[in-house]
Amino acid sequence: MEFDLIHRYFKTPFGGLAQANPDTVLFGIGDDCATLRLAPDFHLFTSTDTLVEGVHFFSDDPPGVTGWKALASNLSDLAASGASPLGFTLNLSLPEIDENWLAGFSAGLLDIATRFNCPLVGGDTTSAGSNPLKTLSITVFGQAPASHLGFNRAHAKIGEEVWLSGTPGLARLGLLLEYQRRGRLEQLCKGHELPQVQALLAAMPAQLRQIAVSQLGMPVPRIELGLQLRGLASACLDLSDGLSGDLAHISSASEVSAILFQSSLESMWRKLWPEIDQQANAAGLLKVLLVQTLTGGDDFELCWTAHPNRHDAIQSLKAGLHCVGVIEPGSGIWLQSQGASRERVSSCSFNHFAEIQN
Ligand code: ADP
Ligand code: MG
Repeated sequence: MEFDLIHRYFKTPFGGLAQANPDTVLFGIGDDCATLRLAPDFHLFTSTDTLVEGVHFFSDDPPGVTGWKALASNLSDLAASGASPLGFTLNLSLPEIDENWLAGFSAGLLDIATRFNCPLVGGDTTSAGSNPLKTLSITVFGQAPASHLGFNRAHAKIGEEVWLSGTPGLARLGLLLEYQRRGRLEQLCKGHELPQVQALLAAMPAQLRQIAVSQLGMPVPRIELGLQLRGLASACLDLSDGLSGDLAHISSASEVSAILFQSSLESMWRKLWPEIDQQANAAGLLKVLLVQTLTGGDDFELCWTAHPNRHDAIQSLKAGLHCVGVIEPGSGIWLQSQGASRERVSSCSFNHFAEIQN
């Protein structure tokens, strides 16, 4: 029975992708171990992530979106290391056999696996017993030339610039919109935050809403950017827990401080929402957007540091890359406003345990 399911939803649909990579996948689903071949003089990179129903995805999320996101978060770790995908394994713990869910999940997973040429090479499928919630765990494998040792978090140096891809904070806006749609916005925003967030959501143009919801459900891992940043970036990570908390990992590992420029973060938002300045309370709205960037999770954009002499090379890689800060002596994350004033940003990352859904 279990093997039937594995065949129907995983071995058969993903077979073509494994066969399309005969140099990498020597043996895939069906054997005790998968056998993957690295290119000569390449190192193996691996990362794993677990998604729990009700915590990391909604029970009523379309299963295809869950499938996409499960692999996206793992591929994003490869991107942040400058590695290219080789393949992945999938562990599923299921309370019941829900074929509709499995079909949708498998289709979403195949979409992203195909887009990033990342074959499914094995896994495990178990019953969750009396636990009513699904748990998914993915381990991804990637490779990079031995000469590239990844982007170590301890490698940020004083004088380097801080860069972001995309517009971190968008996924949090998507989450706020999803909660609002379910009539549960109060669960995410406490006290005085609630009216400010409601005003922001009400003012958001329809197109920006769409971008935010898709950033939450179908984030695009920055694999290509990660490869392009080899030789340009020093420290790099992907933003899963919010800019202030994630950048703090770089600042503490590198024993430096990171200064973020409020004006640069605001220009980043203005590029997506140019009409914001026509709103009566534009300054207030921008402030709420800034908070989403600093604390909102799940964007899977990259944040990296690089020497200023790499500025032009990085800027010309692609559109949508933003230089937003600088590395200085000291410790912690600081927000520099238009005037001279600078305030320390407390490390208020997305808290996985404070935001349990359901
Ligand atoms: P074993 O008991 O030897 O671990 P299983 O019966 O659990 O083997 O699985 C049989 C084959 O199916 C193995 O190759 C395993 O990697 C693969 N497999 C099991 N579950 C999944 C899954 N969810 N996705 C992909 N491959 C899977
Ligand atoms: Mg097994």
